[in-house]
Amino acid sequence: MELRLYNTLTKEKQPFRPLDPARVRMYVCGPTVYDFAHIGNARPVIVFDVLFRLLRHVYGADHVTYVRNITDVDDKINARAARDFPDLPLNEAIRKVTEETEKQFHADVDALGCLRPSVEPRATEHIPEMRAIIEKLIDGGHAYVEQDHVLFAVASMKNYGRLARRSLDEMLAGARVDVAPYKRDAMDFVLWKPSKPGEPSWPSPGGIAVEGRPGWHLECSAMAWKHLGEQFDIHGGGIDLVFPHHENELAQTCCAFHHDRMANVWMHNGFLQVEGEKMSKSLGNFVTIRDLLATTTFGATKWHGAVLRLAMLMTHYRQPIDWTAERLAEVRKALAEWIDVAAGVKPSATVLPQESLDVLADDLNTPGVVAMLHAFHREAKSGNVEAAENLHNTLRFLGVWNGETADDIANYGLDASDLPSREEIESYIEARAAARAAKNWAESDRIRDELATKGIVLKDGKDADGKPMTTWKVAR
Ligand code: AMP
Ligand code: ZN
Repeated sequence: MELRLYNTLTKEKQPFRPLDPARVRMYVCGPTVYDFAHIGNARPVIVFDVLFRLLRHVYGADHVTYVRNITDVDDKINARAARDFPDLPLNEAIRKVTEETEKQFHADVDALGCLRPSVEPRATEHIPEMRAIIEKLIDGGHAYVEQDHVLFAVASMKNYGRLARRSLDEMLAGARVDVAPYKRDAMDFVLWKPSKPGEPSWPSPGGIAVEGRPGWHLECSAMAWKHLGEQFDIHGGGIDLVFPHHENELAQTCCAFHHDRMANVWMHNGFLQVEGEKMSKSLGNFVTIRDLLATTTFGATKWHGAVLRLAMLMTHYRQPIDWTAERLAEVRKALAEWIDVAAGVKPSATVLPQESLDVLADDLNTPGVVAMLHAFHREAKSGNVEAAENLHNTLRFLGVWNGETADDIANYGLDASDLPSREEIESYIEARAAARAAKNWAESDRIRDELATKGIVLKDGKDADGKPMTTWKVAR
């Protein structure tokens, strides 16, 4: 097995060679915590969680460090804090917004089966590192102070733009940079800026007298440096981060530490789209993770986190995904069927089968693994125990099955719809069991038919001890 990853920097799939196999290091840009995350934001979290699992499998769980930051200083956070808590001092309001949003983010991605990263640094806890990087950049002639701002001098770096692979003109147009009076060159970007009254502020670097706050790109350079060092293996995020965010992170880190690279491999997931457009807050075409997991609106559908996760993995991470309810319904059906079969075996070894590993190691080919799940399921149904074990272990490895029953997946979220409640269904089943025990078949059938008109299908079978048992599912 050889792990191969597509590198945005070289535009090629390459064999992955960690700088130190005893300490494989990955950094992924995390959320800006001001509002609920939408399902598009979940894509990098899930994709890099699968990569984290794969790296742990290959190099050993203790030999992989995964850092995903929390951006807790940002204009959007300030605006949200002032809006939601107008009576609190701004800094207190900001703390409330960031703490609550962070908690919700964790609840959301836990439900999507994502492992917690090794470290989740907060930007505001890395101000000294940011100041240190700025001082290094000023000393090296890569940054300058102007009107209480510190700017990165793009012209001081000879190969600026090599990640985005764009000319300066294209970058200028793409970034819609404002030509602020404190910039020597329109492309120069902010490393540090003065804080407005009431905003979070820290003593400034570069001999600036007034207090200020960091630019967004600088935060990631500082946190990656602190937790992974000057150079590391993998840097990830969504494709929209390539420019300017990652280009600028790379510029800051390389120029501060005098290296020609920051991360060896840069990886970017494609967009999750709705009707061909990127899902985003600003377009308003978004649905939050929380809504998908726990909609309480009458008639709306909830989905088990495993269904959302599997739906995401059915597309290769670099391709766009079109997000539709029909697709989720298909995924739910398939996953419930697979679990039904996989739960019937207890594999002695709980390792990812080699065949699945080989496919996954080819640049995280999750749709390839999903095709294998279909094949394992087919063979398992015709009595192949090894195929059932492979199905079991591959589902577990992908994190799309954590011991739920098939019904847990298929029936998840029923209480959000106009279907009868679980309690109601159970009482129908009890009444029917009583009728059957009394050999009153007409009554038993009547109850079954009545439930069917309410959208619930009963299935008679036997439990593990051979006793009659009735299960139910939603007719879809
Ligand atoms: P943001 O909160 O916009 O900084 O996004 C957080 C992460 O989610 C970044 O890695 C983005 O690239 C990613 N992201 C945002 N929207 C989408 C989307 N529609 N599809 C895939 N990834 C996205
Ligand atoms: Zn970042």
